Amino acid sequence: MGGRGSGRRAGYAGRSTTEDSLPLDIRRLRRAGVLAPGRICGWQWTVNDYIRASIQIRADVWQVELTYTYTARQQPTECIRQVVMLEKTPCTLGGRRSWFRCPACARRVAVIYGAGRLFACRHCKQLAYGSQGEAADDRAARRADRLRKRLGWEPGILNGPGGRPKGMHWQTYVQLSAEHDALVEVMLHGMAKRLGVLDGRLSEIQRQFNGEP
Ligand SMILES: [Zn+2]
Repeated sequence: MGGRGSGRRAGYAGRSTTEDSLPLDIRRLRRAGVLAPGRICGWQWTVNDYIRASIQIRADVWQVELTYTYTARQQPTECIRQVVMLEKTPCTLGGRRSWFRCPACARRVAVIYGAGRLFACRHCKQLAYGSQGEAADDRAARRADRLRKRLGWEPGILNGPGGRPKGMHWQTYVQLSAEHDALVEVMLHGMAKRLGVLDGRLSEIQRQFNGEP
């Protein structure tokens, strides 16, 4: 799966199980020449010649910008632009190796996954979908998902916030979404603290989660 594409931006449908995740492997991007600074390319995931999803990648020296459309169930299609920072480490045989910095936890990784609304590392994806992760965060993730269910939002905090469900009282909506946002913040802080992420970075992540530019 995966390969260089024509630059089409078909976007991907809003399924959110980890089996459906779209892996983006920096080694493959590098081999395909996608990481050349200033370059803009399409990247797609195919299954039996059927294009499952595609994104546009704009490379820079220290970051890549991913552009794609995302449609959560019963939500309008969004155009998302996610910046992922790069890191380079020296190789034993000379040259430098590139890594992604996970946009959610700042971990250095070779592969990020587009399983929800945003791309993040395997650890964050598991945490966001409640299958694994640190116990406290896991509980918070389950509580967040229960709130998301009441709000009619797609499960997984990486899917971002949805709107007010039809027929729900404004007061209830404001209360539930505030509770949800507070939980997400606690989870992000917990992750960031364990991994030593700086505050500035965290507010940037928070903005991405909230879908702000
Ligand atoms: Zn992560």
